[in-house]
Formats: sequence, C-alpha cells, structure tokens
Amino acid sequence: MNKVYDAIIVGLGAMGSAAAQHLASRGARVLGLEQYSPTHDLGSSHGESRIIRQAYFEHPAYVPLIMRSYELWREIERNTARELLLLSGGLMLSPPVHPIFRGSRQSAEQHGLPHEIWDVASVQNRFPAFRVPPHFAGLYEPQAGVLRVEDCILAMRQLALRSGADLRFGETVTSWHGGSDGPARVETNRASFRCRTLILAAGAWSPQFLRSLGAKMTVERLVMHWFQPEGALGRYEPQHFPVHIWGLDDGSYFYGMPTIPSGIAGLKLAFHEPRETCTPATIQRTVRAEEIQSISKIARAYLPDLALRHIAAKTCMYTTTPDEHFVLGPHPDMPSVILACGFSGHGFKFAPVVGEILADLAMEGQTAHPISLFDPNRFRPQA
Ligand SMILES: Cc1cc2nc3c(=O)[nH]c(=O)nc-3n(C[C@H](O)[C@H](O)[C@H](O)COP(=O)(O)OP(=O)(O)OC[C@H]3O[C@@H](n4cnc5c(N)ncnc54)[C@H](O)[C@@H]3O)c2cc1C
Repeated sequence: MNKVYDAIIVGLGAMGSAAAQHLASRGARVLGLEQYSPTHDLGSSHGESRIIRQAYFEHPAYVPLIMRSYELWREIERNTARELLLLSGGLMLSPPVHPIFRGSRQSAEQHGLPHEIWDVASVQNRFPAFRVPPHFAGLYEPQAGVLRVEDCILAMRQLALRSGADLRFGETVTSWHGGSDGPARVETNRASFRCRTLILAAGAWSPQFLRSLGAKMTVERLVMHWFQPEGALGRYEPQHFPVHIWGLDDGSYFYGMPTIPSGIAGLKLAFHEPRETCTPATIQRTVRAEEIQSISKIARAYLPDLALRHIAAKTCMYTTTPDEHFVLGPHPDMPSVILACGFSGHGFKFAPVVGEILADLAMEGQTAHPISLFDPNRFRPQA
C-alpha cells in the first residue's frame, strides 16, 4: 500500500492500453488494471477490424487528431514490426443532403484532404460490386483504411510493457476515490493502490463509474456480421476493395469492410444505426435470426452481385453521449481523475492520440491537442 504510482489506469482496452504506452514511455510509474483477460471480446475493441478515415463527417474538429493518429499508428507499426493499418480507400455513399456526404465533404474541404466527389455512374464504374441508388452521391477518400483492432491493442501494450508498465489482468476495480488533498485511491478485488493521477478508461462500464457527473451515456448493443462472397476472396482484400459507409433514406446507417488477410474469411457488414440500449450486464450476446435477416437484406440490395453468404456474427457495445462526442479531460470535481470514455462508436481510430492526450494531462496538466469538444463538464446543468 506504500507505493504511490504516477498513474493508475482503470481498463486496458483501446484507450487504457494507449495511455499505458504513452505514460510508460515518458518514464511514469504506471499500473494498468483490467478485469478480463488480455484478448477478451466482451467490451468495444474486438472483431478483427475498425475503420480509419480522415474526411470526418462527425465534425471537422476531429481532423487534426486523426492526422496525428495516422502518424502514431505508423510509429507503433515501426516499433513493434507489426502491420496494423491497411489502406483501402473509403467511400461514403448517401443522398447529397445527408450528414455522411455533407459532413465528409465539409471536413475534406476545410482541411484540404485528398478526396474525390463521384456521381453514381463513377461509383459503379470504379467499384461495380456496389448497387447505388440513383439519387446518391459518393465521396471517395484514398487515405481511408482498416486497423487490425486486436493486434493494435496488443502492440500498444507490448510497448507499454517494454517501457516498464505494470499491467494486470483479471483484476477488477471495485471502487475509486478522487483524493482532493492527497493521492487518489483504487480498491480492486485483490488489493488497494494509490496514485497521483487516476485515469478512468472503462469503456461500456464507465456510466456506473460516473453517476455523480450527470454524464448521460447510453450503452448500446451492435452486431458485426461477416459474409463470404462468391469467387476468390483475394479480390476483396484492402488493396482492391474499399471501406464503405452508407446513409440510407430511412435513417439507418450501415458500413462494410474489406476482408482482412489471415482473418475471418469474409467481408464485414454492420449497422451503425439502429441500435439497442443495454448494459454490460444485460447485453444479449446471442445474435437473433431476424438480425441476420435484416443485414442479409442489405447485402442483397447494395452488394447483390457478390451473392454474400452469412458466416459469422458477434456483438459489441457503443458507449454513447448525447452529442456523440467523446468525454476526454479532467473530472470537473476531482482534478486528479482523468476521464476517457463515451467514445460513441467511433473512437478506435483515435486511440493513440487519446493515449498521448491522457499522458499530457497526467504529466503536464495540459495538452496542446484541441479537446474542448470533449469537455466532461458539458452535460452538467449550467448555473
Ligand atoms: C461494432 C463496433 C464497431 C465499431 N467500429 C469502429 C470503427 O470502424 N472505427 C472506429 O474508430 N471506432 C469504431 N468503434 C468504436 C471503438 O471500437 C470504441 O470507441 C473503442 O474501442 C472504445 O475503447 P475503450 O478503451 O473506451 O473501451 P474498451 O476497449 O471496451 O475498454 C474498456 C476496458 O475496461 C475494462 N473495465 C471496465 N470496468 C473495469 C473495472 N471495474 N476494473 C477493471 N477493468 C475494467 C473492460 O473490461 C474493458 O476491457 C466500433 C465499436 C463497435 C462496438
């Protein structure tokens, strides 16, 4: 109980592992605590692949953080000799007035990002696999791609361990105390620890940790599906086949990814909307027949020539804030506690820059990265 760590991190998923890497590499004494095994699939960071893209329809303010993330992913690849980021190009497809097309275009133009605007004929010409409704438009960005999600996390932890981080698995944090006039404390099912800075990166378990803050986050269940196409699978690997995000007229969103070499032998397809509210304790892990039917219907409508056959499915959770922007910064009432949660289903690509920001905040008390959009205090009723 005597040792005071510089930082304790609760949760070693995407964000916690990134924080551990950055803090340890700067010489901090770091303890990371994870309730499950190193490669569990019960949170938000599993399922083979995640999209990374630059023309960010969610808000142009994310773009500088994305650009830094690309640099950091490449640095992690170099330092671990792993291939993590596979460029494939990315296609946003929706009616021109839809936020997907409008927002992507705004971010691309505002930040001078490489992109092309395509009409339906150009989309069909370049990627005949897609069947695009006549009133849609396409925005193509060549720098989009996929991240091998599990390998990314293993790589960040590998670097953290190399720099001396103490990472413990199968240890659950049962309570924490912010420490207004001394070190912060955490209790686990095994022991108690103290630290100067406590980083809460508990993913879908965060709402229960943050009740006091009035941060209204909703945990949502999503299903990832894999489909086998007819013909040679190699034609759908990232160098030939783009990530694609679709905004449909009925308000639903779906997306798809290329096949990942030496992964599940199929194309991934999933809805981003609609979603189903749950908690980590109540989430239904079994995928229902009607869910397979509705995504299969999408496959037949928008990728008909591939004759896609459903081969696998897995559940995952989003932790969503009311404005779908992240919660990243010091706890408003407890300056020794830093929050990294509410990534609202689009956080993974940012993990390395989030790690860098968390290390800045923990060690310097500030960061040069623009994070005002993510202020943890924004949901509080203002006096
Ligand atoms: C289906 C799906 C598709 C997605 N697609 C994309 C995409 O294409 N691109 C993109 O950028 N993002 C995407 N995301 C979002 C992205 O994956 C998440 O934002 C990101 O992985 C969240 O990381 P995290 O570290 O916050 O959570 P997690 O990785 O879940 O980590 C939280 C960890 O905290 C641990 N923990 C919780 N409570 C405790 C406790 N009390 N004690 C100890 N440990 C604890 C948990 O076990 C867990 O390991 C997607 C998410 C899903 C579900």
